[in-house]
Amino acid sequence: MIFPDCRADLALRDGYHSPQVDVAVRLNTNESPYPPPEGWRRDLASAIENVEFNRYPDRAATRLREALAGLHQVRPDQVFVANGSNEVLQSICLAYGGPGRRAAVYEPTYALHSHIAHLSSTEVVQGTRRDDFSVDVDQVADVTAAARPDITFLCSPNNPTGNALPAVSAAEILELSPGLVVLDEAYGDFADWSAISMVDDEVPLVVTRTFSKTWSMAALRLGYLIGPARVVASLERVALPYHLDALKQIAGRLAVAYGDEMRRRVAAIVSERRRLQGALENLDVDVWPSEANFLLFRPKSRKGDEVWHGLVDRGVLVRNTSNWPSLPAGCLRVTVGTGTENDAFLSALKETL
Ligand SMILES: *Cc1c(COP(=O)(O)O)cnc(C)c1O
Repeated sequence: MIFPDCRADLALRDGYHSPQVDVAVRLNTNESPYPPPEGWRRDLASAIENVEFNRYPDRAATRLREALAGLHQVRPDQVFVANGSNEVLQSICLAYGGPGRRAAVYEPTYALHSHIAHLSSTEVVQGTRRDDFSVDVDQVADVTAAARPDITFLCSPNNPTGNALPAVSAAEILELSPGLVVLDEAYGDFADWSAISMVDDEVPLVVTRTFSKTWSMAALRLGYLIGPARVVASLERVALPYHLDALKQIAGRLAVAYGDEMRRRVAAIVSERRRLQGALENLDVDVWPSEANFLLFRPKSRKGDEVWHGLVDRGVLVRNTSNWPSLPAGCLRVTVGTGTENDAFLSALKETL
């Protein structure tokens, strides 16, 4: 049998994978270590009773968008919802990127921004962050003037480095960008400020959010965007019909009522992050400041890769970023877990170092 080849440009590209290794302490994908509220589970169980499974779900996800609009004090027509914020990013690339169009990224940053751009045949223009991982607005101005990107991706707090983009930088970049500015705030609830307050129907800025991290609902696969109504309308043109299933729409809407519980979990994680940061500063590693639920660190006297294996051998999985081309060699990224998990990580790390 002769089998058809997939697109040649895809053959050059690996999929995006974070290994799902079966160990006791999993601190590699920035999930919440806490389960969602019990009350939400009960609400969901009783709401499922009334789902009309023989019917397609509400294509406009009206009630979910209303709930999210209420949460962020915007209008429902300024909210786009999808299966994880990665699907939001994909919709952005389909609607605003594509052949003959360009997306700018500033490395090191979230790998999916350039990956999804490539998948959608959007040309990727790469800038670099400063050594402290901050975004150099003068360089953004140069890249933007040379490449005229249709999409500029930014991430705040930035994954995998943890630092947030200052509000003044966001405003300056918005001012000089000819295309759509996408601010990925997957970790926005952990930081001091959000660009959602800058969203306006007349400003080409969108802010993406997810239920995967702060809401403790990575299994749900629900993400959204807050942006100008006309951008939301464009994204709806590329979304598949009924792409958001009925259960997810209900689960997300019910979750929004538990915002206070979410903020309590976030506060607990932030305080654990500070403790973990302090403990790492006393070990033979460099550690960078973070406004997210993870820390980037680099062993000073051992190879990152060896330390990663040493941790796995001791039942602790962190993200092996030691060979990422845009990061200094030997870095590792650890998600902030529960107090017990963080202690397990710290003692495994001490032994390994
Ligand atoms: C985890 C993460 C996402 C989340 O994607 P989902 O598809 O919503 O799970 C998006 N952006 C960044 C920067 C992330 O780290």
